[in-house]
Amino acid sequence: MYYGYSAKVYEWINRFVTLEPLAFELWSYVESERQFFSYPIHEDDIARMSQADKIRHELATRDVTRKHYNFEDYWIGSVGRTLYDMFVNKYSKKMWSIPSNTLLDTFSWSAKDNPINTGSRHAYKGSHLAYPVGPTGYNPYFEKLLDHPRIRTIFGQNVSSFDLDAKTAILADGTRLQGDVLISSIPIEELCENRLGELPYAGRKFIPFVLPTKEICPGNIRFLHYTGEEKYTRIVEYKKLTKHEADDTLMVMELPSNDKEGGKLYPYMIRKYMDRAKEYQRTLPQDVYSTGRLGTYRYSTIEQTIAQAFGTLKMITGRSIKGMENEFFNIGDVNIIKERKAG
Ligand SMILES: Cc1cc2nc3c(=O)[nH]c(=O)nc-3n(C[C@H](O)[C@H](O)[C@H](O)COP(=O)(O)OP(=O)(O)OC[C@H]3O[C@@H](n4cnc5c(N)ncnc54)[C@H](O)[C@@H]3O)c2cc1C
Repeated sequence: MYYGYSAKVYEWINRFVTLEPLAFELWSYVESERQFFSYPIHEDDIARMSQADKIRHELATRDVTRKHYNFEDYWIGSVGRTLYDMFVNKYSKKMWSIPSNTLLDTFSWSAKDNPINTGSRHAYKGSHLAYPVGPTGYNPYFEKLLDHPRIRTIFGQNVSSFDLDAKTAILADGTRLQGDVLISSIPIEELCENRLGELPYAGRKFIPFVLPTKEICPGNIRFLHYTGEEKYTRIVEYKKLTKHEADDTLMVMELPSNDKEGGKLYPYMIRKYMDRAKEYQRTLPQDVYSTGRLGTYRYSTIEQTIAQAFGTLKMITGRSIKGMENEFFNIGDVNIIKERKAG
């Protein structure tokens, strides 16, 4: 799903694919209540929660001006202990395979922007939400970008090592690819052969299953999150994103997995690892660039990754294309998000 706050990046990608705006809602299943509720937590749902009075008291007495320095502290400060336990606590530990959410220590946010949704139940209000509804999704974007006589694309081959000083990538079959500039989007610690230590990632196993019914999720609900002891974090009904027409429906269950099969999907928002990634960046020789979600070890979206790529272009050529590189923002840059929402 395309999700972002930059009108410029949205217009850029919309030139290549047919982005169809989506009204987007998601539900969280709270096992202790045996019910689905809207997520972000919606004020109108509180009345049907078994601990409604306690929740209202916790919301009324929270200090929204306090700064918070880790994920748990932020959430308890924002919504109170009871809602945190219902919606966030186990979900986040499951999502990241961690024993405590205090380990996610890169927060320095305050909760002035109310984390309780009001009015319509749409998620990510004020953002650009869309899906490339063509039969091949985002493919036309990549096909167009690569359609140049001087570009050669090699598919299905892994880079197994690098000679960074020589700006050379070495493929598994021994082929050496040398350039004037080397740009990598694989995990930065692999690019640097783990010289400063490994970086951890959360991974996922995806379990697709088809069910014999036209549609499962009602209305604009496209994702279901599971916040309790269930092994899975999320189930997505894909045709509700892709607009695919069929009598059956494809659901995909996501199971956290930190083994090799789970892959390197989510960089951890843990200071020491993010600092290590920055240290790796500092050690890169001239004309070697590491970019993208894994290349910078940032929990970034498609929009942020595209903006980052324009940043890399500017670093290499000195050229700015319509200031696209300035569209990047970091996960805690709430002021930028607010400004763009207003715009
Ligand atoms: C489950 C999940 C759901 C997401 N949903 C959304 C969403 O709805 N909206 C959104 O905006 N963002 C979403 N994201 C984030 C989005 O996928 C990333 O921001 C984006 O894909 C990052 O692009 P990238 O090019 O930096 O990295 P990637 O897309 O991760 O590409 C890196 C590539 O490098 C390849 N690679 C790694 N090692 C090697 C090697 N040694 N040799 C050769 N190739 C190698 C990998 O196979 C991969 O293809 C999601 C991420 C995940 C994990």
